[in-house]
Amino acid sequence: MDVKNRTRCVVVCLLFVTPWTFCVADEGWFWHVTDFHYDFSYADLDFSCNDDVTNHGKFGDYWCDAPWQLVQSSVKAMKNFKAEVDFILWTGDNVLHTADEHLSLDINDGILSNITTLLVQEFDSTPIYATFGNHDYFPDAQFPPNNNELYNRTLDNWVTWITDEEEKKNFLRGGYYSVMTNHGIRILALNTNLYYTSDKITGNLTDPAGQFAWMESLLTNSTVNNEKVLITGHVPPGIVDTMSKPWMYQHFNDKMNEIILKYSDVIIGLHFGHEHMDNFRLYTKSGTPVAVLFCAPSVTPWRYKIPTSTGAPHNPAIRLVQYDRQTGRHLNMITYYMDLPASNAQGRAIWAQEYNATRDYAIDDLSPHSFKKLVDRISASGASTEFNKYWKWRVVNVQDEMLDECNEACNTNIICQFSHLDQTSYDACVLDAVGTSTCLVSNLAVVLISALFGLVSY
Ligand SMILES: [Zn+2]
Ligand SMILES: [Zn+2]
Repeated sequence: MDVKNRTRCVVVCLLFVTPWTFCVADEGWFWHVTDFHYDFSYADLDFSCNDDVTNHGKFGDYWCDAPWQLVQSSVKAMKNFKAEVDFILWTGDNVLHTADEHLSLDINDGILSNITTLLVQEFDSTPIYATFGNHDYFPDAQFPPNNNELYNRTLDNWVTWITDEEEKKNFLRGGYYSVMTNHGIRILALNTNLYYTSDKITGNLTDPAGQFAWMESLLTNSTVNNEKVLITGHVPPGIVDTMSKPWMYQHFNDKMNEIILKYSDVIIGLHFGHEHMDNFRLYTKSGTPVAVLFCAPSVTPWRYKIPTSTGAPHNPAIRLVQYDRQTGRHLNMITYYMDLPASNAQGRAIWAQEYNATRDYAIDDLSPHSFKKLVDRISASGASTEFNKYWKWRVVNVQDEMLDECNEACNTNIICQFSHLDQTSYDACVLDAVGTSTCLVSNLAVVLISALFGLVSY
């Protein structure tokens, strides 16, 4: 919107005493794409596949990570749906799920380079703010709290987007950086893999690679300078409903939550990946909603499989977010998906809009207040219509016959994780909802399963 139109908008607002929120001022868009998990061995050695696949679909299989056809098709779909965006968030996990023996620094770096090249080919003049995922490191998830060869090589790949000399140093030290967008939004691109419980190197530290101190200092400056900050990264803070535990070591989860709450006035949104499912969490201060964290669904359709359980099938997805460039307020988001069985059956990529958040959830925008209303509605009556929408979109519109059931415990865990982002508060929420005995049995089961088989690694 140019200055003249903006002025007209203000005048119209004043004349008709229309709240400012109804005037979409200077809207911008960005893409969020995450968890490609490219399997270069698909339909050959099937390194990532969790089940025997006999009929390899052109665009992939629910049991396997993404073949190149799917990776390419996702990026092309982004361009077809909206080529002109202000920037792209790309939150890691480009490498397939497989044993370390099938990977190496060169292989992981090669995958990162290939996907970087693909994104640049399709979006040559669009800044991309990229972050690492736990699977991008070799050995898997073992990010050290210091400089290493993967950071060096990746900076060479991403140097077009990380240009400031200080930020290059941050990236080389810890795999994190900050950048100001062309429209004055400050991006904090984090390496939260340093806090992930699968990282056996960092668990005893208090501030791996000095990232917390850096975040705090940067957010203090942003507060002084009245900046708008968007936080992005791979492993999200909060509690995983299927495990009733945080992804992060507890002290790191607590610290992340503390920082986000302390600086929520300047934080306009948080965008993470890693869960593969479409999910969100709401930060509240004394009951008042202050920030929303979005977990975008993955490109890979891969389902986990451990002896005791399997993950839900889900379709590949990409996400477009609309925001106000002046205030940073998130106005809407549209999630697009590939119908994997239909695409494979027809031999052509079938991408469509999955849902439009404001229209289909009937909310005004993506603000914390709107999400508070949504959480209240979803929580109000157990498996309500609102919950059913969330449940279907969480697995990106898989066909009804493939949609798992969410029993009472599942429902409770999900509702509790929406706005209880630390262990104590989440446990209290679950306890409150289902009563002591069931909760203890369920928690005990989680502890036993975790001890026996390890936590599921996304
Ligand atoms: Zn991950
Ligand atoms: Zn992943």
